[in-house]
Amino acid sequence: MFEKILIANRGEIALRVLRACKELGISTVAVHSTADEAAMHVRLADESVCIGPPPAAESYLNIPAIIAACEITGAEAVHPGYGFLSENARFAEILAEHGITFIGPSPEHIRLMGDKVTAKQTAAELGIPVVPGSDGAVDTLEEARRVASDIGYPVLVKASAGGGGRGMKVARDATELEEAFLTARSEAAAAFGNDEVYIEKYLEKPRHIEVQVFGDGKGNAVHLGERDCSLQRRHQKVWEEALSPALNDEQRQQIGETVAQAAAKLGYAGAGTVEFLYENGEFHFIEMNTRLQVEHPVTEQITGLDLVQEQIRVASGAPLSVRQQDVELSGHAIEVRINAEDPATFIPSPGKVTHLHVPGGLGVRVDSHVYGEYVIPPHYDSLIGKLIVYGKNRNECLMRLRRALDEYVIDGVKTTIGLFEKLLKEPDIQDGAYDIHWLENWLRHQQD
Ligand code: ADP
Repeated sequence: MFEKILIANRGEIALRVLRACKELGISTVAVHSTADEAAMHVRLADESVCIGPPPAAESYLNIPAIIAACEITGAEAVHPGYGFLSENARFAEILAEHGITFIGPSPEHIRLMGDKVTAKQTAAELGIPVVPGSDGAVDTLEEARRVASDIGYPVLVKASAGGGGRGMKVARDATELEEAFLTARSEAAAAFGNDEVYIEKYLEKPRHIEVQVFGDGKGNAVHLGERDCSLQRRHQKVWEEALSPALNDEQRQQIGETVAQAAAKLGYAGAGTVEFLYENGEFHFIEMNTRLQVEHPVTEQITGLDLVQEQIRVASGAPLSVRQQDVELSGHAIEVRINAEDPATFIPSPGKVTHLHVPGGLGVRVDSHVYGEYVIPPHYDSLIGKLIVYGKNRNECLMRLRRALDEYVIDGVKTTIGLFEKLLKEPDIQDGAYDIHWLENWLRHQQD
């Protein structure tokens, strides 16, 4: 096992990783930008190193500074959290060249899944059902037209290098295709420095269901059930639950086994998430994330496993702590993302938290780096906490969520707490009857 781990991240996830390390008796090194000097993960870590000025490109994405911080402190491994360098294959390689362990899968697997076209081809080869679409990248408008008329409109033009819900354009007919194709290409070039795009059937009413998988890198893998992340705004998740209200045990078992077998065949190491769109009883692969997800706590609540500790164990060469037959999925969990944003306009609201009261009690978990008088810097994303509730069943979870939101007080900045209070009153939310477009439609009606 490692003696010292450097956490190459900030915010709630840096704190989450730090907690896992402490329980394993591993010393921690925090890195931070000058804007995060007073951050909670810096305060709680055994050591800390300032790695640059506020812009992420000069600090949390600054590979030489992070390597130097490892060398100064003698950290043997790096946990990248999510975002920032967590899916950067080159970073994983550079760490290896310096004899430092990257807590995550191999650079080859990160690269394979980081390009959505090769990811989709690999998934199909491994027996995972994919969304109907082009065979690989589409280079010309002519080819785009041919593919679209073959699979049928509406279609979605997607960037091969896409992420964070960016670089996607819908075309409902042949006239819309030209604009969708050209704008997706130029947006992809601007956002990712790569204008390659591909085409997929646009699914009208799917749910977003993702399977959590864990591999030991030696041909063994287990699945830990699914999460339903259909409630999204601008393709970004705002509410996640486990298990999905839309699946029965047989479907769950089947898709879980397919994913675990694929991960085992790949020789995948560590945590991974295989994302699907689910419509009319069928699963369609969209991508695989080769890292810990923001919404991992809902899986932890229903399995009783600490996914970060599991990642650290696997990275140190230890076997998985569970076999498939030991994995028990029980109860229900819901996570809502508390962002420092206006709950109606979603405009970020950084600044000082003047008063804070965090909910507690049975079945309530809050993963947050915020403390009273904390100043939320304007330089990073607006996630300031995750409220996770756990209960025997979905109904108990909903009641608990209502109660916990009622207790939660964050003064001084605007937050999305009010959004979830409103959502809980909606019959569709109470029934779990929503697809990936539900929230956007609901928000549109709120404005009318
Ligand atoms: P990213 O890597 O940018 O998150 P994904 O491929 O994971 O992109 O897709 C993000 C979201 O976009 C999905 O959860 C879904 O809401 C929507 N989406 C992606 N592909 C399709 C599709 N073929 N049809 C309809 N919606 C889609």
